[in-house]
Amino acid sequence: MMIDEKYMKEILERFLRYVQIDTQSDEESKSSPSTEKQKELGRLLVKELQDLGISDAEMDEWGYVYGTLDANTKSGDKVLTIGLLAHMDTYFGVKGGQVKPNVIENYDGNDIVLPGDKTQVIRVQENPNLTRCIGHTIITSDGTTLLGADDKAGIAEIMTVLSYLKDHKDFLHPRVRVGFTTDEEVGRGVEHFNVQKFGADFAYTVDGGELGEIEDETFCADSATVEIIGLDVHPGYAKGKMVNAVRAASMLVEALPKNALPETTEGREPYLHPYQIQGDVSKTVIKFLVRAFTSEELKGLERVLEERAKDVGNAFSGLRVAIKVEESYKNMKEKLDEDPRVVDFALEAARMAQIEPKRKAIRGGTDGARLCFMGLLTPNLFAGGQNFHSVHEWVSLEWMVKSVEMLLCLLKVWTMKGAR
Ligand SMILES: [Zn+2]
Repeated sequence: MMIDEKYMKEILERFLRYVQIDTQSDEESKSSPSTEKQKELGRLLVKELQDLGISDAEMDEWGYVYGTLDANTKSGDKVLTIGLLAHMDTYFGVKGGQVKPNVIENYDGNDIVLPGDKTQVIRVQENPNLTRCIGHTIITSDGTTLLGADDKAGIAEIMTVLSYLKDHKDFLHPRVRVGFTTDEEVGRGVEHFNVQKFGADFAYTVDGGELGEIEDETFCADSATVEIIGLDVHPGYAKGKMVNAVRAASMLVEALPKNALPETTEGREPYLHPYQIQGDVSKTVIKFLVRAFTSEELKGLERVLEERAKDVGNAFSGLRVAIKVEESYKNMKEKLDEDPRVVDFALEAARMAQIEPKRKAIRGGTDGARLCFMGLLTPNLFAGGQNFHSVHEWVSLEWMVKSVEMLLCLLKVWTMKGAR
């Protein structure tokens, strides 16, 4: 192990301190940040960054915290800037305040009964990763709230990296920009993120799950709306006249490929998901989510939808069918491939830290994916937490330590190999 007991203790203390501050975001709120209380953690982090010698540490009006650690290499203007990002807010759907962390030392491999609600049990059967953590220090909530390892594990890890670098001036590193963001959980995590001002050449979100995970792919996502216009007539006198948009809509939904639905797909398989239907005889609107890992597959599914909609249009004389497709986000791999170093160096850093890297494709989107298309290539790295968005959330302290080691190795790889 690269880092010693001192930092292990530090990560734990930081983590426990951060999770006890309520930073739940709010889906309904229109303000930024969506909840003012997120700034409470932001203010603490600014102070702690300053204590670590990050003199430009600041929180902006949106609650984002930024800070810079200057490079200590001698390569002058060739030196790159690497961004490390984590989000301060926690999931809105499960109670996130008054977290009482439960620290289990030397975990014995059994099911974990949570102390605040004994009906809540983290079962080994449902959490096979627990068997990889026997002997570790495991942290959970008391079973009545979230833990908030998503993503305060990431914050504690990044802060400990800075602390390690403060103590080890001989450890060469590039310029490091740190960013702690708000409102990730409500999908607004980079709404006010200023890529220009952040000024990193490449960045990483430290917001993934199990040891070794490196996420470099997300879905390509579109949404489609099908509008079906029929003709309503008094049903007693409708023969040969009524054009029923309700029947047409149900025919369309029934005609969709059954092997490309969310409930019938996994892994890298694409889907076409009718998730809302609204209307009556004269007008029905169906909303779809279209998801795939490649643009070709995405367009392919959209063509299928168009063809089926056309068939339905032809099956009812006098019916009008219109489709509108809108882009939501794209697979970040399209962008990450533009400079393979950003993922390759992460893989190399994992191996250097004696971690088996595991590349993963996310069946969803991430803030990093949006940053990629805003001009900052940002894959996602593991932070060590499991069961995100649940009162069964848990994290291994040893995995958090491995994250710190991997981040340090990552800075080392960029110092050795990353030049403009
Ligand atoms: Zn997260």
